[in-house]
Amino acid sequence: MRLILLGPPGAGKGTQASTLSERWGVPHVSMGDLLREAIAQESEVGRQAQAALEAGELVPDEAIMGLVHQRFACEDMQSGWILDGFPRTLAQAEGLNDLLAILQQPYPKVVCFEVMTGLLIDRLMAMGRADDTVAAIRRRLAVYEEETTPLIEYYGRRLCLTMVNGSLPVGEVAAALSGLGEPETGTAAFVKDEADVDAALSGGRLLVLDCTATWCGPCKLVAPMMDRLAGDWGDRISVLKLDVEAFPSVAKRYGVKGVPTVVFVREGVLLEKMVGVKPYEIFSGEVARLLGHTGDE
Ligand code: AMP
Repeated sequence: MRLILLGPPGAGKGTQASTLSERWGVPHVSMGDLLREAIAQESEVGRQAQAALEAGELVPDEAIMGLVHQRFACEDMQSGWILDGFPRTLAQAEGLNDLLAILQQPYPKVVCFEVMTGLLIDRLMAMGRADDTVAAIRRRLAVYEEETTPLIEYYGRRLCLTMVNGSLPVGEVAAALSGLGEPETGTAAFVKDEADVDAALSGGRLLVLDCTATWCGPCKLVAPMMDRLAGDWGDRISVLKLDVEAFPSVAKRYGVKGVPTVVFVREGVLLEKMVGVKPYEIFSGEVARLLGHTGDE
């Protein structure tokens, strides 16, 4: 499970993140905690961060991305994580996309907590953390509005965003989040190794390969149709998603020049190539046609 928790300070991200982290057995990465650790260790980043934390301002993106790169280099980040308090700016979101592409990790889910401002101030005052003076709290909320709310639209466009009412009691918010980690059934997996492609083609199976890229908006429209295709036809065909930047040689093998492109392959032979977003019926109709043509029904 890969999950980003967005939401204003005091929204309850940290509380929910630690519950979900235990349930799913993936690390909870709190950017605030990483920064407070850096300050305690008096590292270079810590020295840069201290004044920003005290004033309720954001720490510069480069320093944050440095910490993120370090954290993602750890072994425990391979198979899942929950990010709490990162990304907080568009530049950080882009930085994370680039990093995930390099690491060949799938696109995360994003949850955004919406909470009434009055309730946030009450909660933050009650927490009484050292960096929570009234002025700093006000500033942190204003900075959230300015810098972080654009991410709601950013992830909304990528169709991976769920809004959650964070004004509800902790237990109800947890219940709203619990469904997110259910294993996805019948969905098309991402290629993690070139051998996945060969395995999908074995036994003369028809392979539908959705060639995509993390930065590609329209690709996010094709992806759910591939999941549906896997659900509808999965017992007779293979459906895989391919990050073309992670596996350029596979994309080249099938002459993929742009994304999104969906290729239909059997026995290593390219049968059809569809460029751009199409209605589901077009993809599904092509599968029916190709299965019919070779008489393997
Ligand atoms: P938090 O514990 O998440 O509320 O973070 C505490 C403080 O750390 C924030 O008010 C910022 O000063 C700083 N901070 C945490 N995460 C980030 C981030 N992603 N980018 C910049 N500054 C951050």
